[in-house]
Amino acid sequence: MIEVKDISWAAGFIEGEGSFRGGTWKQGGMAITVAQCEIEPLQKLKGMFGGSITGPRPGKGLRPKPIYYWGIYGQRAAAVAMTIYTFLFSKRRAQAENLILAWKNTGIPYKYRTHCKYGHEFTPENTKSVNGKHRRCIACDKRLSMKRTERRRAKKSLA
Ligand SMILES: [Zn+2]
Repeated sequence: MIEVKDISWAAGFIEGEGSFRGGTWKQGGMAITVAQCEIEPLQKLKGMFGGSITGPRPGKGLRPKPIYYWGIYGQRAAAVAMTIYTFLFSKRRAQAENLILAWKNTGIPYKYRTHCKYGHEFTPENTKSVNGKHRRCIACDKRLSMKRTERRRAKKSLA
């Protein structure tokens, strides 16, 4: 059982020492990682959330201390981001939101996604179905057709 004080500790620790990645699968996917000289707090994180610890790897600088890394990836990273979200400050909160949004879009099958990859919501007004199967984002269709028109105009003005 995780207690609120542990979640608040984890949030503070990740706030200070961690980094969030909300990338697509191609960019390496969603991740939360923490680099730290001491292994104990990382073991505590692992005990709470899972994930894995690697290292020690040699540090950089004049007096390099070996560094340990804790990392959690994919859907589980999104779950951690959601768990600690309310305890974070604005900058980290934005990063956590980014990760959660990436999860909403890549962690689940396309038909269950609530937003297109450009972040437009699949509302009834913004969704077009193709052959009664595939969903298309109307905002993106408009965006692409505007781009095409612009390109055509640019070509014409060059000619
Ligand atoms: Zn879209």
